[in-house]
Amino acid sequence: METLWTATSNDNDCLELKKDEDVDILIIGGGITGLSIAYNLINSRKKVILLEANKVGSGITSRTTGKITYLQGHYLDIYKKNGRFLTKKYLNSQKEAIEIIKRTILDNNIKCDLEEASSYLFADTKKGIEALKEEKRVLKDIGCNVQVVKNFPDKKKFAYGIKVQDTYTFHPLKYLYSLKKIIKKKIPIYENSRVLSIEKKDNYYLAKCNNGFVKAKKVVIASFYPYFLKPFFMPLKVTLEKSVVGAFIDKYYKYSAINVDKENVSIRFYKDKDNSYKIYLSGGYNIACENNIKENFSKLKKEANNYNYIWSNIDIMTGDYMPFMGRIDDNLFIATGYNTWGMTNGTLAGKVISDMVLGYYNTYEELFNPKRKNYAHNFLAVTSSVKSLIKEMVYHKKKWYDGKVSFRKIDGKDVSIYKDNIGREHIVYSKCPHLGCNLVFNEVEKTWDCPCHGSRFDIDGYVINGPSNYNITYKKD
Ligand SMILES: Cc1cc2nc3c(=O)[nH]c(=O)nc-3n(C[C@H](O)[C@H](O)[C@H](O)COP(=O)(O)OP(=O)(O)OC[C@H]3O[C@@H](n4cnc5c(N)ncnc54)[C@H](O)[C@@H]3O)c2cc1C
Repeated sequence: METLWTATSNDNDCLELKKDEDVDILIIGGGITGLSIAYNLINSRKKVILLEANKVGSGITSRTTGKITYLQGHYLDIYKKNGRFLTKKYLNSQKEAIEIIKRTILDNNIKCDLEEASSYLFADTKKGIEALKEEKRVLKDIGCNVQVVKNFPDKKKFAYGIKVQDTYTFHPLKYLYSLKKIIKKKIPIYENSRVLSIEKKDNYYLAKCNNGFVKAKKVVIASFYPYFLKPFFMPLKVTLEKSVVGAFIDKYYKYSAINVDKENVSIRFYKDKDNSYKIYLSGGYNIACENNIKENFSKLKKEANNYNYIWSNIDIMTGDYMPFMGRIDDNLFIATGYNTWGMTNGTLAGKVISDMVLGYYNTYEELFNPKRKNYAHNFLAVTSSVKSLIKEMVYHKKKWYDGKVSFRKIDGKDVSIYKDNIGREHIVYSKCPHLGCNLVFNEVEKTWDCPCHGSRFDIDGYVINGPSNYNITYKKD
């Protein structure tokens, strides 16, 4: 699955873990979260290792749009659920994260095409304008400097908009690969090293990997969606949202924008020494309710007919729009649930989690505590996802496939078959090994996607993204 970011960056591989290890801190996952945590621990004098199931940056971070902004469109919701004080604290946390990214880039002379780009929220519908005016009122109330505007720097007009400064865009993978280079000098990073299970022992955890065991005093789960159910019971707390993204060659402008009307649309620009691109996103679909990915991709046509790159991505939504960062068991930590704002929140997790594992107090500990009770109001969203999934299980053989996908029983087992352009059949098992949901074929990217928790597999059944730790490759008995 090529994205603009994978096509325009290079990285060197790390070795696979092939022996047992005994460490103070084990970090699981090499996305922006795992690397930011490791970066904060390089001078900690603790024995730390980072394990990545595939390659560093191969997860959700490789498919982001890479906007670094605090204008996220959720402040009204956060305010309603958490009140003024905590909403202001959240705003400050996002501004602090932006400063951390800037400082990291400056201190290490990282070349990741960081550009200052004002952020806009805009609307054209009556409902959107009203919502945006409320958002502006909240932002002003918590001390944010917001300007009302009616057009973008490229002179394109809209009915109503707000704008803030001191926000940025960058190339997320160039940033991540540079962090990896810096971290590797002090902390071993192992790639193609998947953690299959974690067992709690008396005063340590034992992680079983594909080629060895890691004994660790403390474990940090930075794997996006945790592959285990207990102790956190993630499926009961979050929903997953999918968006489709496209990049096409276009003139460069220094801004990014989100349309708050019914359909969530976001825009940013990117330029390197060769080309400049407009990146257009459409989406925010609950993956359990909206599985017709081809139809979703067709919405990109509203902006351009031909894209140089198109891809899809998912993120984890929490009920109160606050991330989960902190302790979920004695010495087991988690950082996830970024509500589509992982560049800032993944970076912030670097500071919050590293402080916590080293025993220091962090000012955001309570706000982002994964055990807070505040997400209970997500119950309705989770219930509707479950209802939709049950329907999906019953009506598995969807009508939208274009004839290249079929479902059969072979030797009593449910299999799904994709016939490629030269007529070759690719057979896989139909159910996600994580919790047994029926997989849906993504005809645009040619992957099998799980509508429950977002696992993805290639056409031959090899896992691309978890939470599934296992392939669905079909083997003849
Ligand atoms: C369409 C879209 C656009 C977005 N745009 C923006 C944006 O403009 N700005 C912004 O701030 N945020 C944005 N986000 C959100 C952001 O991309 C994510 O929140 C963030 O990238 C998540 O990073 P992560 O490190 O937590 O996860 P990942 O990048 O997925 O990293 C987790 C890593 O863990 C590894 N892993 C998984 N299981 C195991 C295992 N068992 N053992 C070892 N390793 C494992 C995976 O291979 C992966 O590399 C966007 C999200 C979407 C969906």
